[in-house]
Amino acid sequence: MRSIRAASTQTICDCADCPSYALTAHLQRSADQAERHHQANARDGWTDVEGRDYCPGCPTDRPEDEHDHAGAWDEALA
Ligand SMILES: [Zn+2]
Repeated sequence: MRSIRAASTQTICDCADCPSYALTAHLQRSADQAERHHQANARDGWTDVEGRDYCPGCPTDRPEDEHDHAGAWDEALA
């Protein structure tokens, strides 16, 4: 789920019960910021399935009980 605000673009994982999100802050909004945010997420391993977003810990080809909702993938990327 994406939410676009005046100074930020946020993507929240659409997998049930997953708390993961990605946030990009902007000083000033321009037309392509949401697109750049989305591309950065794709590089980090986020998946877009028909407009729904899944974090790198939630591979859409795996059953939900194999997902990493604890967010350990986030520390691995950092
Ligand atoms: Zn997730």
